[in-house]
Amino acid sequence: MHDGILVINAGSSSIKFSLYLSDGDDKPVLSSKGQVEGINVAPHFIAKAPHGAVLTEQHWPDQPNMSHEALFKYLIEWVEDHLGDAELKAAGHRVVHGGSLYSQPLLINDDLMTELEALVPLAPLHQPHNLAPIRALAKVHPGLAQVACFDTAFHRSNPWMAQSFALPRKLTGEGVKRYGFHGLSYEYIARQLRQLSPATARGRVVVAHLGSGASMCAIREGKSVASTMGFTALDGLPMGTRTGCLDAGVVLYLLQQKGMTAKEIEDLLYKQSGLIGVSGVSNDMRVLLESSEPHAAEAVELFVYRISRELGSLTAALGGIDALVFTAGIGERSPQVRERVCRHAEWLGIRLDDEANARDAQQISAIDSPVSVWVIPTDEEMMIARHTREVLHALRSSGA
Ligand code: ADP
Repeated sequence: MHDGILVINAGSSSIKFSLYLSDGDDKPVLSSKGQVEGINVAPHFIAKAPHGAVLTEQHWPDQPNMSHEALFKYLIEWVEDHLGDAELKAAGHRVVHGGSLYSQPLLINDDLMTELEALVPLAPLHQPHNLAPIRALAKVHPGLAQVACFDTAFHRSNPWMAQSFALPRKLTGEGVKRYGFHGLSYEYIARQLRQLSPATARGRVVVAHLGSGASMCAIREGKSVASTMGFTALDGLPMGTRTGCLDAGVVLYLLQQKGMTAKEIEDLLYKQSGLIGVSGVSNDMRVLLESSEPHAAEAVELFVYRISRELGSLTAALGGIDALVFTAGIGERSPQVRERVCRHAEWLGIRLDDEANARDAQQISAIDSPVSVWVIPTDEEMMIARHTREVLHALRSSGA
C-alpha cells in the first residue's frame, strides 16, 4: 500500500499544501495540490490535480476567523477522501528557521517545538505561521508523524566566516549571525544537478534563485559554502518588495533623523522596496520588462547589476566557478534577465547559447563556454516530501 505524505508550506495569509504518494522506493509522486487563502479575511480552499484541473473549491465567507484547527480538520478529511487505497502517514512542513544547530530535517516532538518557538524572534514574520499548522495538525490528527524541514539547514555547512558578521562575539554567541535561506530550493537543485551532470555537481556551482524572494548560493561538491541571505531573508539581492543588502547606517538614519518607528522601517524594507520601490511601477518582473517607464528599466538594471556583483563575490568564495544555475520564477522563465546576467559575467568565462536560452532549454551555455549554464526548475515541496519520506523510513527501521 502507498504512503500518503502531506506537505505544508504556510505563510501569513495562505497555507499551501501538496499531497504525495510514495511506495517507499521511488521518489514521491505528486497526487494533488492546493491552498487555503484569505485566512482571517474570507477563507477559501482550492485543490487541483497535478495538471491543474480543479478538484474541489470551498468558500467560508461568513467565517473570517475560522481557526487553523477547523481548516486542518477540513483539509485532513479532504486528503483522506482523495487518497484512494493509500494511507496518510506523515506531514512535512517548511519551517523557515532551524537556528544554528539543525542541518537536517527532524521528526517533531514537544521539545523540538519549544526550541523552534524560541527561534520566533529571529524570524517573527514567518516562523509563527510555520509553527501554527504543526500545532493544529497535532490536535486534529494526533499520532501523525510530523517532520520539520528547515530553510536554513542546507547552509549549516558554511565555514564560520560565511556565517559571521564582524560584530562583538557576545552578539554572535546570542545568534546574530548569517543563517542563509531558500535552503530547500538549493538542496533540490543540487540533487537535480547530480542527476543531470554528476561531474558538474562535483564542481563549483553558483545557483541564482530568482523569484519574488531572490537569493544566490555558492555550492561546492553539493554543499553550500556561502549565500547572499543573512540573519534574515532581507539581505543580498533586491527582491520584489525587499531591499536586499543595505548599509545598516541607513536604518540608523531612518530611526534617528527621520523619526521612523521600527514597524515603519520594517514595512519600508520588506514591503515597499526592491523592484516596486525602485520602479514605482510593479514588483512583477514581467510587468517591468514590458514597461516603457525609465524607472522600470532602472529597477531591472539594478537587479541584474546586483546579481552580477554577488556572482563575483560567490565565485571568490568558491575559488572559481564551473557552473551557473538559474531557478525560480524569473530564473526559469526570463531569457532576458538570464541573458543580461550572463553578458555581465563574460569575464568569468560564461558564454550563452542564445537560441537555447530563448527557449528555456535545460543547458543554455555555448558549447565552448568554459562555465556551463543551466536552467533547472526548483521544487521545494518535492524536497520536503523526500525528506519526510526519509524520516519516516528511519523511524520505521528504528522500530519506533
Ligand atoms: P515566489 O518567491 O513567490 O515563489 P516565484 O518563484 O513564483 O516566486 O517567482 C515570481 C517572480 O517570477 C515574479 O517576479 C514574476 O514576475 C516572475 N516571472 C514569472 N514568469 C516570468 C516570465 N515569463 N518572465 C519574467 N519574470 C517572470
